[in-house]
Amino acid sequence: MSLGIKKNDTILIISGDEKNKRGRVLDVSPKKGKILVEKINIIKRHMKPSKKYTQGGIVEKEAPLHRSNMMLVCPKCDKATRIEYKILESGTKVRVCKKCREVLD
Ligand SMILES: [Zn+2]
Repeated sequence: MSLGIKKNDTILIISGDEKNKRGRVLDVSPKKGKILVEKINIIKRHMKPSKKYTQGGIVEKEAPLHRSNMMLVCPKCDKATRIEYKILESGTKVRVCKKCREVLD
């Protein structure tokens, strides 16, 4: 299943506590339909001391959000948009912004 969102895209949060915030996509889990966004949906985790966190304690970390909570921000027109797919002559499937009709990748 394609979510229409890829790593390093910018998204706009459209529902929940973080509504109207923008962020950069760090990771996408197509099977779960979840997306991890930089500095969005930060949760505090209690960590035991480990090699990485020698002190242990509380670590702040992003938690993934469901795809339905966000829209892609078009890098060409800077608007939150839905996307369409288009097949180029080369056979490559690309995303197209529904607002400005530009090819996004
Ligand atoms: Zn656009």
